[in-house]
Amino acid sequence: MITVLKPNTTKEQQDHLIKWFEERGLGVHISEGQDYTVLGLIGDTSKIDVSLIESLSMVDSVKRVSEPYKQCSRKFHPEDTVIEVGNTKIGGGNFAVIAGPCSVESEEQLTTIAEDVKRSGATMLRGGAFKPRTSPYSFQGLRADGIELLMKAKEKTGLPIVTEIMNADHLPLFKDVDVIQVGARNMQNFELLKELGKTDKVILLKRGLANTFTELLMSAEYILSEGNQNVILCERGIRTFETYTRNTLDLSAVPVLHELTHLPVVIDPSHATGMSRLVPPMAMAAAACGADGIMVEVHNNPACALCDGAQSLTPAQFDEMLKKVTKIREVL
Ligand code: PEP
Ligand code: MN
Repeated sequence: MITVLKPNTTKEQQDHLIKWFEERGLGVHISEGQDYTVLGLIGDTSKIDVSLIESLSMVDSVKRVSEPYKQCSRKFHPEDTVIEVGNTKIGGGNFAVIAGPCSVESEEQLTTIAEDVKRSGATMLRGGAFKPRTSPYSFQGLRADGIELLMKAKEKTGLPIVTEIMNADHLPLFKDVDVIQVGARNMQNFELLKELGKTDKVILLKRGLANTFTELLMSAEYILSEGNQNVILCERGIRTFETYTRNTLDLSAVPVLHELTHLPVVIDPSHATGMSRLVPPMAMAAAACGADGIMVEVHNNPACALCDGAQSLTPAQFDEMLKKVTKIREVL
């Protein structure tokens, strides 16, 4: 971290600030220019509050040179993280295909979709049991019963299960869930992240509706810093001025996050676009730009889905899409 002092800073003020840094375990390298003095801080500055220093009258500017996250940084861990889920892998060249309904609705609905997506080549089954809905009057999910149905579908198909948690108190219900999803709305639910960090579960962390890459990585850092290294990041579109699509798919998430972190990155083209016809081209684009996987909503009867029917592919459309995605991966 670099702190630039204003030209009129007195020696006394400068010494006072240097002492304050040293008391926090940092080394200070002083570089005196003609007008400005630059203090280069050496050591772990992650606990230093940049805005506190910026607010000092003697300070011109403060700049972080290293990222505020450590454990999820590629500098800390240069090789790709490969995460094992059941008998499949994600990351380091292993491509995950997570498919299934937005919400678990019934045993019949889930089983038929699970069998269909497995036949097409899905490697994991998704399905929401606890649903974060904008309206309290919308279908809230089958909750604990939904998780039981997911377990039955896992038993039948062998597909590992991905499902969302909204409350750390529900963790005991997730003991046999393979991948616990943290949805966009909970990306910065720090107490939930800390609790998940204490488990050894694989966590799929979705980018918040209006969060930066740094904020996403800081949220991942909450999980890693508690000891759980099994985190998959998911770009699911962000809010922009565009309202034609449900969100704006920020595909640059893939190369950017691959640069910044060793964690696998998956793309969710369903929530990103909100329209089933836009899902296949965006899934292909995700594969083309090097994503470690895709997460796609599939429903046997989208017109009657209790949630997100408009963005759900039928099993036949999913099958066709996956063939194209596979072709793109072969070209690469
Ligand atoms: C979901 O995956 O069903 C979901 C609610 O996604 P998001 O948190 O990205 O809106
Ligand atoms: Mn959904």
